[in-house]
Formats: sequence, C-alpha cells, structure tokens
Amino acid sequence: MTSVLFSGSDAQWSEYEAHLRAAFADAGLTVQLAREMAKDDVEYIVCSPSGPVQDFAVFPRLKAVLSLWAGVESITNNQSLTAPLCRMVDQGLSEGMVEWVTGHILRYHLGIDAHLSGQDGVWRNDIVPPLARERRVGILGLGELGLAVGNALAALNFQVSGWSRTLKEAPGIACHSGADGLDAVLSQSDFLVLLLPHTTATENLLDAARISRLPRGAKILNPGRGALIDEKALLDALESGQVSHATLDVFRTEPLPADHPFWAHPDVTVTPHIASETRATTASRTVAENIRRGEAGLPFRHVVDRKAGY
Ligand code: NAP
Repeated sequence: MTSVLFSGSDAQWSEYEAHLRAAFADAGLTVQLAREMAKDDVEYIVCSPSGPVQDFAVFPRLKAVLSLWAGVESITNNQSLTAPLCRMVDQGLSEGMVEWVTGHILRYHLGIDAHLSGQDGVWRNDIVPPLARERRVGILGLGELGLAVGNALAALNFQVSGWSRTLKEAPGIACHSGADGLDAVLSQSDFLVLLLPHTTATENLLDAARISRLPRGAKILNPGRGALIDEKALLDALESGQVSHATLDVFRTEPLPADHPFWAHPDVTVTPHIASETRATTASRTVAENIRRGEAGLPFRHVVDRKAGY
C-alpha cells in the first residue's frame, strides 16, 4: 500500500479524486489516497502550489512531491522541501497551449481584428495577408510547451526560431541558445512567444534593451509568466510603436488588478491565465506513472532542477 496525500483545494479534489484513483489502478498501484493522513504515513504528495501543505519537513517518509502545475516557481524556493519535486508534463496541457498560441498567432497573421471591427460597407480587397511562410515567429523557451508550439507553427509553414538554455535540435525550428542566440531570435520575431519558466535568470528578461531588438511593430504573446516582462518597458514600447500589440495571459499579480493599465490599453489583449490548464484525466496518468516509477526503484521523470529553478 502506497500513501498519497492530496494537497489542493476542494474544487481540485472533486476534479481529480476519481481520475487519480483510476490512474493508480491502471498503473497497478494499491494506493491510500486522502486529503488528510498521519504525517508519518505520507510517501507522496500531489500538490497544487496554493494547497494547504506548505511545510514539507513534517513528513519523514516523503519520497517525492508531484506538482499539478508545470510552473513550479512558488515551490522551488520552499526550503522545507528536500525530496524530489516533479513538475507537471501533461498531454492535455501541451495541446491547450498549442491551441491558445496558434489561435492568437493566426489572429495577428490574418489581421482578423480589422474585419471584426471594420465591417462598414467598404470593399477593401487590396489587403491580403501574407502566407505563413513569409512570417517569422520566435519562441523563447523550447521545453515541453515551447517545442509543441514550435512544431505546430512550423507545420503551418511559419518561419520558426527558438531559444533555450541548452541548444536543441528540432526539425523545422531554427534553434539558438546563449546571449547571441537570444539576440538572433529577437531580431527575427515578427511575433514573439514567451514560454520560459519564471526563475532568477528569466525575471525581466524582456526588458527595454531586448524589446528594442525586435523588428519594429512586432507583436508579443506571453503565456509563460508575468515576471518575464518588464511591464514599464512594454508599455513604453506600445506607446512608441516598437511593439504594435501584446496578448498577455499571465501577470505579476493575478488576478490582474482592475486598475492595471493593461486592461484598458487598446493594444493589449488580456486573457485571465487560461492559456492552458492541466487536465485531470491525462495529468493523473502522469502522477501515477511517476509513483509507479518511484515504487519500482526507477528514477522519477520531470524532476525539477532546484538550482536552475525549473
Ligand atoms: P520546460 O519544459 O521546463 O521548458 C522550459 C524551457 O525554458 C526550456 O527550453 C528551458 O531550456 C528554457 N529556459 C529555462 N531557463 C532559461 C534561461 N535562463 N535561458 C534560456 N532558456 C531557458 O517548461 P514547459 O512545460 O515548457 O513550461 C514553460 C512555462 O510555461 C512554465 O514554466 C509556466 O511558467 C508556463 N505555463 C503557463 C501556462 C498558462 O496557462 N499560461 C500553463 C502551463 C505552463 P532547456 O531546454 O535548456 O532546459
């Protein structure tokens, strides 16, 4: 019998309980799954960052913490956690992110706004969008989500370049790393997608200097984390026309305060951190597979590098 504590909200428990039980059974595991249990019994914690467990030191037999979120910045700094921390990698999460990014890129690419707001009886057939193969998309972060997005955009014929800490190889994506690589990607991004984690190295990565390297009139999509962007620099760039539009899903403070300038800005689209969500069906399988591996003495998958912060 393996003991698994669920540390999440009432709503998450309702959403996940049946799927987790089914996934454990499918993985051949006999599991005691509960929201409360004796601290000495706990072997694994399935964890939402805002869940009730914040002190991990009180669980002497803890083997691993399994995050329900891909972004783990709020747990990586928790010094009470010494057991391995595994972040969420979920097919549903990747699919959702591909759909959100592709949808918003196509909105820009096809100039959809002009047709939504300009139906005024005038037949303007002189403006035809270019083909995707004539547009350049840069993706900062080529991990689970960035690569899935890059592959989808490349399949639509966009010219895709990407940047990551370690150099990747991906067919259809011009891959870069390092400071020069970042400059190269920025300078060829008509549309720039941020899919980096929030770490000390990525805080304010998109500052005024880096925004100035984008082609004039570039568009920015940020489904990564709010802290990746220097907000003042972005607002200044929107004002000057260096950036012509931004679609933002994540913010330094969430919910985004009602008086924040992004809400009313004509060149900003706000989506309320819904770009993609962990899906209970598929995410439960990821959790069960990692516990199965732990119980079989195999290394866990998707272990967070606490030093790198993601
Ligand atoms: P991941 O697999 O860990 O990928 C992160 C990518 O960022 C990797 O390519 C990594 O490089 C790169 N990276 C990290 N630090 C870097 C640095 N200092 N310089 C250059 N590249 C760096 O993460 P993921 O699953 O793709 O998720 C990415 C982020 O998306 C999450 O951290 C989360 O913040 C966000 N997210 C948002 C939503 C939403 O609904 N808005 C949903 C899920 C996730 P290497 O490949 O070399 O390691």
